[in-house]
Amino acid sequence: MNSDVQCVVDAVMGSQELFKYSLPMIASENVTSPLVRQVLSSDLGHRYAEGQVGHRFYQGCGFVDTIEAKAIELAKEVFRAPHVNVQPISGVNCNIAAFFALAQPGDKLLALAVPSGGHISHAKFSAAGIRGMKIYTHPYDNSKMNIDVDGMVKEIKRLKPKVVMFGASLFLFPHPVKEAREACDEVGASIVYDAAHVAGLIAGGEFQDPLKEGADVVTASTHKTFPGPQGGIILCKEKWAKDIDEAVFPGTVSNFHLHHKAGLAIALAEMKQFGKAYARQTVKNAQALAASMDDMGFSVLCKEQGYTKSHQVAVDVSKIGGGSVVAANLEKANVIANKNLFPWDNVNGTDDPSGIRLGTQELTRLGMKEPEMKEVARVLKRVAIDKEKPEKVKKDVILLKSQYQTVQYCFDGDGAYEFMLR
Ligand SMILES: *Cc1c(COP(=O)(O)O)cnc(C)c1O
Repeated sequence: MNSDVQCVVDAVMGSQELFKYSLPMIASENVTSPLVRQVLSSDLGHRYAEGQVGHRFYQGCGFVDTIEAKAIELAKEVFRAPHVNVQPISGVNCNIAAFFALAQPGDKLLALAVPSGGHISHAKFSAAGIRGMKIYTHPYDNSKMNIDVDGMVKEIKRLKPKVVMFGASLFLFPHPVKEAREACDEVGASIVYDAAHVAGLIAGGEFQDPLKEGADVVTASTHKTFPGPQGGIILCKEKWAKDIDEAVFPGTVSNFHLHHKAGLAIALAEMKQFGKAYARQTVKNAQALAASMDDMGFSVLCKEQGYTKSHQVAVDVSKIGGGSVVAANLEKANVIANKNLFPWDNVNGTDDPSGIRLGTQELTRLGMKEPEMKEVARVLKRVAIDKEKPEKVKKDVILLKSQYQTVQYCFDGDGAYEFMLR
């Protein structure tokens, strides 16, 4: 084989093997079902479609129409949404489109600060900045790891923002959407809820329902707790349908990666059937992991509130090496997680992040339940607290993970890592 090609193929297989034998705990990742994986490698990935179902700019789109119409139909049902656009190709793409639909340059945006869990696309160096919005941050209650409700209402009335944003990347508890609605109505603000992380939990009915609580527009990635192919989806009230659709096409998307949308339609069908059980177990697993880690001596955030109501667990590791060192040592033991800024950390990156963020969604998809969470907590303790040699712990991680190689909560539950390269 050509040496350049060999280099890439080796890296692809290397990554495949790494994840096959490690504990994947990055809160923004997931595994798709084997059927979704197959669809992703179909000929659809070579094709183009622009425009809406039944109104395309290219020939040969009949089957694409069927796929997109089915994805929209299923998404409306699964997310209980009046209007859906499945064309955005990522979560950031969704946010750019939402800001184009709902705001003008110079309008004010109230959103979470990045160290408080806000996403870069809510900040000045990404989507909100591209739209030229003036950015203000939600008052935040560090002890509750949530937006301060009274402060938020006051801030909405004082600032009169055009858009109030909810949703986060570090996201333990539901955000005060219904508490914001009245103040938003008073000042003419619309609400965008970024469900990138929690879309799968919302679909499964295990987190707040932002549309029902008063959000105008919900944006999401389709590959975090929602276990579909990488991509984006926008849900909205009927009154925003036309503005959102135009902001997506021709606004911010042309071709919309058709193989991913076929995979999305299948993942939506899986969630319609299995979403409730999957979302329930994911949250139960996060709570079980947090409780075990607390028992074993970790400083897990928000104990008084039951640690978490999402797929995430936030752990302060500042006294046992800091986020960078702990995450790096975990990787040596085949536990893949990320260091994470906490609200009290120095924003400018001069300090080491205090925390690590752990997600249970992917381990749940692979069939792990509460007893396994205890085993996972033990592995984390051996590396981060007991300072055992990570290479030694890795052997036990490989043994543990070897028993969880099948994707659950789908119609064709089969090898999660079976993959051939010719
Ligand atoms: C991950 C994330 C996004 C970005 O999603 P992509 O699909 O990676 O573009 C947007 N918002 C929040 C809150 C996120 O966590």
